[in-house]
Parts: sequence; structure tokens; C-alpha cells
Amino acid sequence: MSRFLSSGHAALTPYTPGEQPRDQQYTKLNTNESPFPPSPLVQAAAAGAAGSLNLYNDPACTALREAAARLWGVKPENIMPVNGSDEILYFAFLTFCDAARPIAFPDVSYGFYPVYADLMHIPAHIIPLREDFSIDPEDYAALGENIVIANPNAPTGMALSPAQIETIVRSNPDNVVIIDEAYVDFGAESCVGLISKYDNLLVTRTFSKSRSLAGARLGFGIGSEELIRDLNTIRYSVHPYNVNSMTQAAGAAAIADDAYYEENCRRIEEIRAYAAGELIALGFEVLPSKANFLFARSPDIPGGELYRKLKERGVLVRWFASDRIRDFTRITVGTRGQMDILLDRVRNILEERGANL
Ligand SMILES: *Cc1c(COP(=O)(O)O)cnc(C)c1O
Repeated sequence: MSRFLSSGHAALTPYTPGEQPRDQQYTKLNTNESPFPPSPLVQAAAAGAAGSLNLYNDPACTALREAAARLWGVKPENIMPVNGSDEILYFAFLTFCDAARPIAFPDVSYGFYPVYADLMHIPAHIIPLREDFSIDPEDYAALGENIVIANPNAPTGMALSPAQIETIVRSNPDNVVIIDEAYVDFGAESCVGLISKYDNLLVTRTFSKSRSLAGARLGFGIGSEELIRDLNTIRYSVHPYNVNSMTQAAGAAAIADDAYYEENCRRIEEIRAYAAGELIALGFEVLPSKANFLFARSPDIPGGELYRKLKERGVLVRWFASDRIRDFTRITVGTRGQMDILLDRVRNILEERGANL
């Protein structure tokens, strides 16, 4: 431990991002990025904004909030743009939780939730998923604690319906329920429509996955005016210029070119169905995914070994060394060509082990 690290953080284990290797060209299926470039409109908008980088960006993100409000059918006052949705999660934990206000989330979910809880000394109430890796909404009914749920969940890809989410939100009226919709555009149903009915619901979105903007860092919090006001109190106390001007322009253009991204999402859903079918034919169990990744395990090879052997063959996937899910690997759905490379390498690896294909 460094002698400079404050004692409150001595035991902190940070989040581990997926590898971003620069040493060789991999078929990169490990961080759920989009295989498609941002739309030409987005690239032009970002380039156009570059000429004004001498000026501070609009801390209120006025134009972007207006565009996003139209897209999601809410008011600009219901929206807070952020520097990637990790930042809205950070702000939400900081704004609504503390040592006396714990946060509940599933045992298998996004790795940042326990890290933020640790960082901010917030007690984490960890609730196991069911045996089949689904979330039981009953576990969260009338819990009387703040809650964060990724829907679809990561890394399982499995989704709850808005009606199931509504039960959770309605039965915890004095607590904030955060629904992390990072992957909702790939076939799940959003619960943004519930914002007008429940002042304790915060929906978070990102443009990193479905809108091909991972490197631009753009996310959103969507919630009641009261929640957004509280979040802004914290944002203006930490980092009011959190969304840079090129990203604000890129985000507004991405909303204007909605059809391009809709089309890309439908392509990903088709390729997901194809790849899942092929993996099942190779003996894998594949969880029913509504996201742009597949979570799969083979009876013929442990997850960690499949990850390593794929990497040796130039294909990167994600493996989590935690107990319940160490048999699985998480595979981003890329282009059809990328999935065929993956499937070919998987077939080779299984044959090499003498699996009966
Ligand atoms: C990728 C991801 C995020 C964060 O995305 P940003 O790139 O920070 O916008 C948040 N939640 C989940 C579940 C994710 O998978």
C-alpha cells in the first residue's frame, strides 16, 4: 500500500476495465462496443465543434438535453447528461447513498456497483440471482433500501419487463431505484415511461453501446425533476463541465440520426440469434440475451481456459473469475464476419480437446 493513500481507501479494489490491447489486432469481442462506426452526421458534428474548443462547453448541455428529451418523451428538466453512464452511477451513489443508506443489487451484475459502494463506504446489500441467473423481482419488493439493477442485466443479458420493474419502484417509494439501461436498445423494453409516474425512479442510459460512441463518453440520467436537481447539486460540486463540447455535438447528432442506430441494433439482434444458435450447436449453454453480448458456458471447457485459448488465437472475449460465473465467457456480438471468426476458433479449440462435436 502506498504511504500516501488515505486510510479510508486502503482496502479498495478498483474496477477492472476490459482489455484494450495496442500490441496486435484482435477480433475484439470483450467490451461490448459497437462494431459499427458513428454515423457520418456524428463525425461531422464532432469535427465542427472542434473549432470552438478554446471556449468552455455549455455546463447545462442545453441543446443535447432538448434533443434527448424529445427522443425519450420527457422534459429537459428530467435529463442529466454525463461523461459516460459510469459517471451518472457515481453521482447517484454519492447523491443518494451513505453509511446509513445502503444500496441493494444482485450478486451477479455490473462490476462497478460494488466498487462505488466500497469507495464511498456505502453498505452493499447483495442479493443472489435465482439458480437460472434471473432476477426475482420479489426480492426487491418493499425492501426499504436504495436499489440498482441493470436491465438487461450484465453479464447475463437477461431482462425484466417494465411491469416487474414497476413493482419494485412502486413498493419502495422512499428510496431511489436506479435502473441501468446500458443495453436496453438491443430488444428489451425501457422503463423510461414510468418516470412521470414515480419520482423515485432514476433510469440511466449510455451512448457507448448501441450508439457507437464508447470513446466519446456520453451517458444520461433520466428521472423526476427532484432527483435531477439533487444530482445537479452534486455534479456542480464535482465537475460541472463533465460533458465536453465535441461529445455534446456528437450526442445531439446521434439522436438526429436515430434511424441509423435503430438499423444497427436490429442487425446486432439478428447476428446475436445466429451466433447463439451456432454456440448451442457446439454444446454451449447460452443464457437468453437481450443485450449485445452472449453469456455462454461449455461442458467441454472451463471459461477461463476458453478465454485464454481464444486470446492465443487472436480473439478477445471477457471472463470473470468469480465463483458463480467462472464457467462462462461473455462474448460481444460483433459483425457476422467477427462471429464467424470466433465460432471457427471455438470449434478448433473444442476439437483439439477431443470434444465430441
Ligand atoms: C458499459 C456499461 C456501463 C457504462 O457505460 P459508459 O461507457 O460509462 O457509458 C454502465 N452499466 C453497464 C451495465 C454497462 O455494461
